[in-house]
Amino acid sequence: TKGAAMVTAVASRVQAQRKQIDKVLALFRLTQEQLVGIRDKMRVELEYGLKRDTHPLATVKMLPTYVCGMPDGTEKGKFLALDLGGTNFRVLLMKIRSGRRSVRMYNKIFAIPLEIMQGTGEELFDHIVQCIADFLDYMGLKGAQLPLGFTFSFPCRQASIDKGTLIEWTKGFKATDCEGEDVVDMLREAIKRRNEFDLDIVAVVNDTVGTMMTCGYEDRNCEVGLIAGTGSNMCYMEEMRNIELVEGDEGKMCINTEWGGFGDNGCLDDIRTQYDKEVDEGSLNPGKQRYEKMTSGMYLGEIVRQILIDLTKQGLLFRGQISERLRTRGIFETKFLSQIESDRLALLQVRKILQQLGLDSTCEDSIVVKEVCGAVSRRAAELCGAGLAAIVEKRREDQGFEHLKITVGVDGTLYKLHPHFSRILQETVKELAPRCDVTFMLSEDGSGKGAALITAVAKRLQQARRE
Ligand code: BGC
Ligand code: MG
Repeated sequence: TKGAAMVTAVASRVQAQRKQIDKVLALFRLTQEQLVGIRDKMRVELEYGLKRDTHPLATVKMLPTYVCGMPDGTEKGKFLALDLGGTNFRVLLMKIRSGRRSVRMYNKIFAIPLEIMQGTGEELFDHIVQCIADFLDYMGLKGAQLPLGFTFSFPCRQASIDKGTLIEWTKGFKATDCEGEDVVDMLREAIKRRNEFDLDIVAVVNDTVGTMMTCGYEDRNCEVGLIAGTGSNMCYMEEMRNIELVEGDEGKMCINTEWGGFGDNGCLDDIRTQYDKEVDEGSLNPGKQRYEKMTSGMYLGEIVRQILIDLTKQGLLFRGQISERLRTRGIFETKFLSQIESDRLALLQVRKILQQLGLDSTCEDSIVVKEVCGAVSRRAAELCGAGLAAIVEKRREDQGFEHLKITVGVDGTLYKLHPHFSRILQETVKELAPRCDVTFMLSEDGSGKGAALITAVAKRLQQARRE
């Protein structure tokens, strides 16, 4: 009977522990009602950003991009593109052939060391120009003076297509003396400092806009661009008459929503957990980009890490031992989350991944870790879906349609690599915007190709104006 008592004691301890774990996981579960509420709040914030009176204080900035039309297929020529702000920095050469709607691309990836991302603005732009020089040398193109499109994936206030003032850095960037400055001027000045070649900078473009353009090149219905990657953001084509910040009522213009800032006024506080707050406090921009911090690749792993630390403190994981590794910021990259959550993976392999991360786990530990990852990424996909539902519903209402057919161009490592994110996102949109028929189109290299296409269109319009 003594043995039996011990077995019962162990069983009830296991049960109690399970309850504690479930309590934490439950914080990440959103009801249908909550998701509807989030969709509706997003809608309110979108409208605030568009209106002149409320715009200055809006958390969803709704920035005009001065991109008004889609490529019409007559674009052609050679273009350079830069892509800064995603997982990699790249320099690209695009050859666009008219008529056949085909684009050939050559590109080179360059690392941007942390010291440069977080150094001075001059160092950052000198580094960028150094990379361009390497690329031009490599391609044998120095002295060609090609038109260039700059995909710069941060919030910029634009007054034309070739001007963009950086409002504030997001994600992993924090170079000094850039906020409030025109990024095109900074690039031009760095090119001048180097005094080796000249470039014709035609357009500065957000990655969402490039993504929408690339998909729009193939699908006329594509009027939304979505990035679910290192960061999170969305753009869409809005009626000019609804954009109070820009003169004119005819036609449409692409709006870069910068929806990552959703929640910065506290409107998501009822669903933010202590873990979200810890991630925010440990980030480069505390208090900012709260929605982005719940939905994008750069932060999901951090939320997971905060939960694991707490569960360990409660004695529910890793034998109650918080290792040095677990204390290290940034260990859980998107690719690890994707691997851990892959259905084909046996638990033993999950343990191997954790071991690679320097975390010694038991079989039970690995089950819990997988559940934690699942809860965090599910919530991210649902939140992102609720945001997207707000925009497609708005487009449907604005056009007075009973039913809307619309395509969303998508890019980003989280969307592309994670085993469940895209499916959950799509299911959520379907539930929250039942009168919209949304097609998701993966963009092949949206930020690079899109910048070249936008540059090509801008060039075509420039020339038409001159003639
Ligand atoms: C930036 C956006 C960008 C998104 C995806 C966010 O942090 O503010 O401009 O589109 O990341 O890269
Ligand atoms: Mg990108």
